[in-house]
Amino acid sequence: YQAKEGGGSVAAYDSSRDAASTDQLALLAELREALATDDQLVLALQPAVDLSTGAPTGVEALIRWRHPRRGWLGPGDFIRPVENSEQLGTFTRYVLDKALAVAAEWGREGLDVPISVNVSARSLLDSKLPAEIGEALRRHQVPPHRLVLEITETVVMSELEVIDEVLATLRSMGVQLAVDDFGTGFSSLTFLTRVAVDELKVDRSFVIRMAESPEAAAIVRTTLGLAHELGLRVVAEGVETAEQRLALADLGCTAAQGYHFFKPMPADKVGAVLGSLLDTAQGNVFPLRADG
Ligand code: C2E
Ligand code: MG
Ligand code: MG
Ligand code: MG
Repeated sequence: YQAKEGGGSVAAYDSSRDAASTDQLALLAELREALATDDQLVLALQPAVDLSTGAPTGVEALIRWRHPRRGWLGPGDFIRPVENSEQLGTFTRYVLDKALAVAAEWGREGLDVPISVNVSARSLLDSKLPAEIGEALRRHQVPPHRLVLEITETVVMSELEVIDEVLATLRSMGVQLAVDDFGTGFSSLTFLTRVAVDELKVDRSFVIRMAESPEAAAIVRTTLGLAHELGLRVVAEGVETAEQRLALADLGCTAAQGYHFFKPMPADKVGAVLGSLLDTAQGNVFPLRADG
């Protein structure tokens, strides 16, 4: 259920630019159809866990496209063209709606676990978005705090004011905000002074390098200190090994996500996984503690 590694073939503008943009136009036309037919775009779901109890701290929704001719596509294959197209708004609302349907189902099963949705910064230029999200939350009867919007800051300066306002409105509604890929953006730090957020996600690149690179380790440590001082949660991304998990726990990181725990999985699997994680966490025997 993995998207193919790397992706990006469709969004590779560098070599034959014309062929690439023709392909992109075709892809965008196909996306329009996918959004209309409602059977091609699916969410893969990846739980994040508390490093000391094993309890699920949240579940991230990651888009996959079961393309009728091209096979399974991952976000790397189509997100960039979508972001630059007029279909971004429709796409964003589609993903949010699917994610809230999943959250509503968990709510009915008594699972109090938030769902995290990746939102392109550009879609936050739409000042109607908060009202639409409010409507969707009510329609699905999902309390706002069960929705976390993950934002990667890749916007140009002139657009910041609108985005800040949209984010502030969403947060005032009770929706949670997370800074995705923290540490990699041009202005991750400035972002924190402009917009109040709830969570930082330590980028996978630092987790991968922290064992060999004192710089990467220092960035992880500093992010944890910053989050602590600002009262924010931290989730380490892309944890693949027990060594990484232990090193993070040693630094005081409380939550993590990655193949070491769970790969992204189909929606119909995740409910059972969450249920059993909550059960074991209650017994506190989930083998995630640094001390055993
Ligand atoms: P992200 O939000 O930082 O998501 C983490 C990515 O790392 C996901 O790739 C996930 O499958 C992958 N991953 C998780 N654990 C591990 C691990 O232990 N090792 C490795 N090597 N990879 C891991 P994916 O699903 O291909 O998504 C890539 C990016 O696409 C996401 O990065 C996010 O920025 C974007 N994206 C995904 N879904 C959506 C969506 O619905 N809307 C928008 N706008 N962007 C999305
Ligand atoms: Mg994310
Ligand atoms: Mg990330
Ligand atoms: Mg990312």
